[in-house]
Amino acid sequence: MSRKDETAKSFPIEFTVRIARILYAFLEGILKLLSKEDMLGAKLSDLASVIRKSVRVKPLEGVAQDVGNYFEKAKLNREMAEVEKEGLKDMVLGLAKSMKEMVGASGSLGGNIDSYIERIEKATTLKDLLECKSAVIDVMDTLKSECATLRAKMDGLNSEMTSLCERLQKSESMVHVDVLTNIFNRSAYEIKINQSVKEFQRYHEAFALLVIDIDHFKNINDQYGHKAGDEVLVLVADTLKQAVRSTDEIFRYGGEEFVVILNKIDRKNALKLAEKLRAAIEKDYLVYKKQKLQVTISIGLAFINESDNEETVFENADQALYDAKRRGRNQVVEHQNA
Ligand code: GH3
Ligand code: MG
Ligand code: MG
Repeated sequence: MSRKDETAKSFPIEFTVRIARILYAFLEGILKLLSKEDMLGAKLSDLASVIRKSVRVKPLEGVAQDVGNYFEKAKLNREMAEVEKEGLKDMVLGLAKSMKEMVGASGSLGGNIDSYIERIEKATTLKDLLECKSAVIDVMDTLKSECATLRAKMDGLNSEMTSLCERLQKSESMVHVDVLTNIFNRSAYEIKINQSVKEFQRYHEAFALLVIDIDHFKNINDQYGHKAGDEVLVLVADTLKQAVRSTDEIFRYGGEEFVVILNKIDRKNALKLAEKLRAAIEKDYLVYKKQKLQVTISIGLAFINESDNEETVFENADQALYDAKRRGRNQVVEHQNA
């Protein structure tokens, strides 16, 4: 028997196909994490297309599905860490700038701080930022010894800076993805909404917030059990994810509630998209133990305006959701600004 024949005998075709599909899931996952400029990306992409041609790779199942989910979560978590890093970079920069104002640009320390500001602006990694933090704290120590009246203020800034850096380190390891539905969770929402409100105040790019709640969800649990309820939650998350634009962000806020941030959108299109989500869920269903499970959702919509902050815009959307429930559920209600 030739060597080729032996190999064919010890690896049945189904086994080879399964391995190929797992390998494909790996390649796709790694590609998601690579930056566009990475040369490795083109090579892996070629390899993935060879596998795609030789075996049917979708839908992902079994281990391949687990691998796919793992990379999806890794990608979302990394995205959140980047957002946190940018926000904290702004804050560290703000602190350094206010220190500069305090000492005046003419002295030697002023010049020093200029160079730190430049370093912070160029910082791209957590390590860079932490190095800047130690350097800025050194300057603070010098200042403290030179100027007794600044001591109290410097202490305050020093501890604020330290707590910011601790938060940054924590955010790198914090989990921002909901385990059940594989979408962003509430802690990710808190970070993102903060960022969206800041960007709105700075660049006036409006966004809309949707607060979504599944109608009579308790009945699903009561009639079909908690596991069926869980599957419905996954279905709703998947359907919402597919129906929003790639620039929008979707979160599981808690229980059977979801939040969507519709970025760079006007009121008319926000309403249209909310209606599209409502209709998509109404049409969708899953089969659980031979039973067809179907739900509807109610949606509250609020459009950000100048006087809003992250709390008021949420309260407005939540109030509109309450109205949607009161008016009979399975509908979109927009909050009317006074
Ligand atoms: P309404 O239309 O007024 O929103 O009615 P509802 O039944 O959806 O609202 P209610 O707040 O009474 O019930 C929400 C239910 O969601 C109760 C809770 O057991 C269920 N729930 C929350 N989180 C989960 C989860 O992770 N899995 C499952 N299966 N059920 C959940
Ligand atoms: Mg609810
Ligand atoms: Mg509900």
